Amino acid sequence: MTEKLPPVRVRFAPSPTGRTHLGSGRTALYNYLLARQTGGQFLLRIEDTDQKRYVPEAEQELIDSLHWLGLQWDEGPDVGGPYGPYRQSDRKEIYLEYAKQLIEKDKAYYCFCTPERLAHLREQQMQAKQPTMYDGLCRKLTLEEALRRVKQGEPHVIRFKTPKEGTITIRDYLRGEITVENRTIDDYILVKSDGWALYHLAAMVDDQLMRITHVLRSSEWLSTFPLHAHIIRAFGWQEPVFVHLSVFLKPSGKGKMSKRESAQLLQDGYSIFIKDLEQLGYLPEAVVNWIALMGWSYDDKTEFFTMQDLIEKFSLDHLNPSPAAINFTKFDHFNGLHIRHLTVEDLARRVKPFLLKAGLKVEDQKLLQIVPIIQERLVTLDDAVEMAGFFFRDKLEYEPALLVGKNLSTRESFKALQESHQLLSGADFDDKETLEISLRSLAERMGLKAGQLFGILRIAVTGRSVSPPLIESMLILGKERVLERVQAAIIRLNEIL
Ligand code: GLU
Repeated sequence: MTEKLPPVRVRFAPSPTGRTHLGSGRTALYNYLLARQTGGQFLLRIEDTDQKRYVPEAEQELIDSLHWLGLQWDEGPDVGGPYGPYRQSDRKEIYLEYAKQLIEKDKAYYCFCTPERLAHLREQQMQAKQPTMYDGLCRKLTLEEALRRVKQGEPHVIRFKTPKEGTITIRDYLRGEITVENRTIDDYILVKSDGWALYHLAAMVDDQLMRITHVLRSSEWLSTFPLHAHIIRAFGWQEPVFVHLSVFLKPSGKGKMSKRESAQLLQDGYSIFIKDLEQLGYLPEAVVNWIALMGWSYDDKTEFFTMQDLIEKFSLDHLNPSPAAINFTKFDHFNGLHIRHLTVEDLARRVKPFLLKAGLKVEDQKLLQIVPIIQERLVTLDDAVEMAGFFFRDKLEYEPALLVGKNLSTRESFKALQESHQLLSGADFDDKETLEISLRSLAERMGLKAGQLFGILRIAVTGRSVSPPLIESMLILGKERVLERVQAAIIRLNEIL
């Protein structure tokens, strides 16, 4: 176990441009864990400066997904905090101010190149098989000249003035020091012609002003990390610790999941989107446990973690920078584990909406009796509909031929049902043991295997060939309904005699 850090200030800084997926969930989770473990703060910052790509519903889905996972932030657009506003679109002037500071320090410059010129430049570079980069034409302008053109209303952007010689050495917590040649770093745009800052500037400014100590973010930012370090150093700021998290690969481990593939997944009852997982009957506890272990491990053998366990045990030193393949089989396993970890009352409460959604009339008292006999078998909450729906249906639907027992004739099966009906009519439904013993001796008297008789009764009583334990199910259903169902089965079988 590594030493605990002093209280950190960390942030989750999503751009609400699409659906909230497992990767975002994990980034948010790791940040949250670090904050809770060290008694620090976890911030939510909405990075919505790209107005064209902003999707309002995406922000709502994001908030809902984080809440569902159980991640509460201490500062954010909705809860406020001492370093707000926490929505980048409310901070436009702040970024402009800092961009101007960089210009004054000769670390940034105005660029007036037209989109046509840039497109042409790009084409030429591509033809010459050169890296596509800005050629620095406007770097040469004097500040007076540039300011004059700005004043005249000439469209412009602000670019970072990346040093063209030497190297920069940056440090990622998981990968150590990385040294990059400055000439390979472009003069990236910091502020667009519409006056909105881009991520590179906005995030660095915000991390500084919001006193962020650790930046845990996706490794897709590794390639522009040298630029970010240049920006921070140009201001002379203290650098936060940067931790670039591993990427997620599709289950095959070959590449990232495409849009089409993630849509396809839903047909198999899986999804990479957090909100879908809720609908599919997964527990937030299982999602948290599963994603926590995609890129982090405790000791290579412990697999069950509650949020509280994770808060205690999480450590940056055990993060793994290698890509992690999404493993849904493991996810099912975790969901089962967490379902079994719930109290009966809690599981009943969580299963109920799925039963209602399937159109079943749920009696709470009955559900509390049912849960203990299905808890061991559920993989998702939604499985309860298949497994326990028969308790709440008035009429069962099944093929009469299913009532014919294994290696038995229709007539023998019919007889078995008649005898069972008679026996059950006189049975005491409060006594599980006696009921089971009498059914077993009935089978014996009729020269049947217990399994044969129970198989027939299982179809009659539950309508399914696989069900929770039969005798327990019969006791929960109650004598009257069991007799009705056996009677209905006799009538159905009679039709195919
Ligand atoms: N808005 C960036 C994104 O969604 C945030 C990256 C970061 O955490 O700094 O990818």
